[in-house]
Amino acid sequence: MKRNDIVGSKLGGGYMVFGRIIRRIDETHVEVVDCGKHITVYADEDLEVHNDYKGYWDTWGRADRPVFRRMPTLRKLKQTASYYQEAAWKKRKPTIRETEHRKSVAERIHAPFTDKQVIRLNEYQEDGQYAPLTCPHTWDRENDEREKAHDAFFEASETRRRGALEATKEGMVCPVCTYRQNWADPHMLIGKDTSKGF
Ligand SMILES: [Zn+2]
Repeated sequence: MKRNDIVGSKLGGGYMVFGRIIRRIDETHVEVVDCGKHITVYADEDLEVHNDYKGYWDTWGRADRPVFRRMPTLRKLKQTASYYQEAAWKKRKPTIRETEHRKSVAERIHAPFTDKQVIRLNEYQEDGQYAPLTCPHTWDRENDEREKAHDAFFEASETRRRGALEATKEGMVCPVCTYRQNWADPHMLIGKDTSKGF
């Protein structure tokens, strides 16, 4: 994965967010500017490269006269993002972003989690107002069988949010496949009632 590659996110509910890679942050993370004008750091494993993507036909409000929305160049995406995200275009911004990324990685909590942490992490995962940590194989275009297994499981469940990992003492695990991540973000522990913070 390299600068200017067109990428889609495997996260976020099954729809693809197209963007381009601005640069590499570390061995496993890249900075992406997406067509929604946001600049975000993604893990390589959460992205798919789609360099054949040219754009899409926009029929919104004009089904009779669709307009082709061409995938913008990296330069254009960065310019548009800078309009919304003031500092994105500034020279010093990359350093700040790398520092922030390193800080958030350093602050991660790691398994084994305590009983209280497991309860709080699962509250977070099931709370509709946060984006849960998800299994990347829920939207697995390269492995249809695995994707179908995830679809069937989450459609059958009345409470689980699609793709959401489940907290256990051993880490955040997928209830469908073998995917496991051994870390979570500390802000997930805060919960609604901060008086009970762990
Ligand atoms: Zn899974």
